[in-house]
Formats: sequence, structure tokens, C-alpha cells
Amino acid sequence: MTCAEAQELITALIDQELGQAERSSLEEHLSECSGCRLAFEEESALKNKIREAARGINAPGHLRSRILSDPRIFTEKSRPARRWQDYLRLMPPLLRPILAFALLLAIALPMFYFSKPASEPIALAALETYDRFLSGDLPVHRTENTDEIVRQLTRAVGGQFHPMGYDLTAMNLRPVAGLVREIDGRKVLVAIYQGQGGTLFCYTFLGSEQDAPTNAARFFEAAKKMNFYAFSRGRVNAVLHREGEIICILASAMPMEELLALAKSKAKPS
Ligand SMILES: [Zn+2]
Repeated sequence: MTCAEAQELITALIDQELGQAERSSLEEHLSECSGCRLAFEEESALKNKIREAARGINAPGHLRSRILSDPRIFTEKSRPARRWQDYLRLMPPLLRPILAFALLLAIALPMFYFSKPASEPIALAALETYDRFLSGDLPVHRTENTDEIVRQLTRAVGGQFHPMGYDLTAMNLRPVAGLVREIDGRKVLVAIYQGQGGTLFCYTFLGSEQDAPTNAARFFEAAKKMNFYAFSRGRVNAVLHREGEIICILASAMPMEELLALAKSKAKPS
């Protein structure tokens, strides 16, 4: 079993959803691979923290009914509004504990994250350049030539890695500048696009998927067998993915769904 395969199964192992064969081969991998074992331990610890934090918390009745009457969850439109108890009765019995767990998460997760000490991972720290660029507060190398930006930035890291060099003209975005930042001793390449489509930053640096903020939403794209992590900082939305050793983050004030679709369309499986 590879590490990537193991990472995909770790959550299912914790939730006791694996069959005998998958469980044994994953457990075998965990006994030999400290990296995946760490991921497993961290995820188990997180689950425990959530369980602890959620103990003794009950969702207030008005919140429960708001969630249960939310059309984004229950799309039935033609009938008059039901009371939330009616929805519960309509649900297959198996779904009820899932819903209860979702409610718990909705309440317990924010509490858990607010109580964490504020240390900013590289992916979030990088986004700071977005607002600073828009307010003209960043020294950048201006050029409208993608190849030149790629060359300049690649040279800045001694050819170790390179920016993605995306062509975004279809979205009315043209390259305008490139710059290099150093965050926690790691070089981050920034290619900046602007146009009628707004402003978009493409960050690249050497790293792993562990560089995604812990509270990022993970989307697994089955077609490309890749993970995409969505998160935001202030009004800036960001989507992170990994290509080999290189982490790429697209950041923009455009809606998250558009940014996610763009990242998925441009990403190359490594
Ligand atoms: Zn592993």
C-alpha cells in the first residue's frame, strides 16, 4: 500500500468502516510508516477532541429547526414548511445519527478551532500578499509576459522548482507581475494575474498536503485522483493542490466555487 492510498483510508479506519482485508493492509502500512501513523494519530486525536468538546452541548431548538428547514439541505419546495420533527420521521433511520453528528459538528467544530492558538501556516501567511499588492504596498517585477515571469521566478529559486505558468486568458486574466516571498524559511513564488476577470494570485512552493490549513475543506477529485483544499483569509478565497513536490495555491476574491472549478481544470495529476 502506498502512502497516498493509506491517507485515503485513514478516516474510514477511525470510523470503523473498513473491511477486514483493507484494514489489515492499512494497519500493516501504519506499523511501518511513521508519516502515515502520525496522520492517523492526529486524526484520531481530533475526533476525540470533537467528541469531548461536544459532550454536554445540545443544539438549541431554533437552530435545529433552522438547519432542518434549510432548502440547501432539503430541496423539497412544493409543500408547505414542515416542522423539523416531521423531517426526522421522514429520514431513513440510518440517516438520523448522521444528521445528529452533523449538528454536533456544526456547533463543536467552531468552538474547537477558536480555542486553538493562533499560529498561521504558510498557506494562510502567503495570502497576506494579495491585499498588500492591491494597495500598492509590494515591490513586484512587472511584466505581461508569462514566459518571462516563469523564467524570473524559477531563477530566483535556483531552478529548484517553477511557477505553474497557467494561461488564464480564457478568464480575461493576464499575467502582470511576479514576486518571491520567504515565509518560515521557505521560498514562495507568486505569479499575479489581472484583468476584467479580477485579480488572481498563483502561489507555488515546495511542500506537502500537510501545508493546507487544518480547517480547509478537502475535495477529492476522482477523475484526477487529486485532493483540493479550499480555505479563505478575509475576503480572499484560496484553493490548494499538490503536483509532486510542488504545492500550488490559487487565490482570488472570486467565488469559491469558481476558484475550485478553475483549480480542478488546471491541475495536472503528478
Ligand atoms: Zn505511509
